[in-house]
Amino acid sequence: ITQPIFLIGARGCGKTTVGQKLAEACHFDFIDTDVTLQERAQQSIADIVAKEGWPAFRALETQTLQSVTAPQSVIATGGGVILAPVNREFLRENGIVIYLKAPVAVLAGRLEAFPEESQRPTLTGKPISEEVREILAQRDALYRETAHFTVDAACEPDDVVAQILAAIASVQP
Ligand code: ADP
Ligand code: MG
Repeated sequence: ITQPIFLIGARGCGKTTVGQKLAEACHFDFIDTDVTLQERAQQSIADIVAKEGWPAFRALETQTLQSVTAPQSVIATGGGVILAPVNREFLRENGIVIYLKAPVAVLAGRLEAFPEESQRPTLTGKPISEEVREILAQRDALYRETAHFTVDAACEPDDVVAQILAAIASVQP
C-alpha cells in the first residue's frame, strides 16, 4: 500500500513513538502534525492557544493535517483532531486510520512519567488521571468511528507496530 497511515488517539497513546517505528518499518516518511504546526507557526501550541485561542489552533491543525497528507507517510495527529467533523471525514477518505487505544491508567501513567512531553495545555486544570478519564469519555467514540482499525496501544511499541502492520496487510490494494 502507498496510502497515508494516520495514527489517532489520546495524548500519551504512543502516536509519536509508534509512528516513528512504523515509518521505519514501512520505509515511509514520518510526520507529526503537532511538530509541523509548531515549526510553521514558530511558536508552541501552548503559546498559540494562549494568544489566539483554541478555535485558531484547531483551524491551524486542520490546515496542517491537509497540507502534510501525502502517499507513503505515517502521520501522527494531535489528540483532538477528531473533534472536527471535517477532520474525521478527511482522515477516513484520505488514508488508513489507526486508533491507538489504551486504558486511562496507562495513559495517565505515561503522562505523569514524562510531564515535559505533554506540551499541550491542560484542558481542565484537574489531576492527570481525572482529565484523561474525562477526555476519553468524550472522545473514545469519535476515535472509534474515525478509525478503520483499532489496536491495543498498552503493549510494547514493537508489538503495537506489529498489530498495525497486520491490519494494513489485510487491506486490499
Ligand atoms: P503521543 O504522541 O500519542 O502523545 P508519545 O509517543 O509521545 O504519545 O508517548 C508518550 C510517552 O509514552 C512517551 O514518553 C513514550 O516514550 C511513552 N510510550 C509511548 N508508547 C509506549 C508504549 N507502547 N509502551 C510504553 N511507553 C510508551
Ligand atoms: Mg505525539
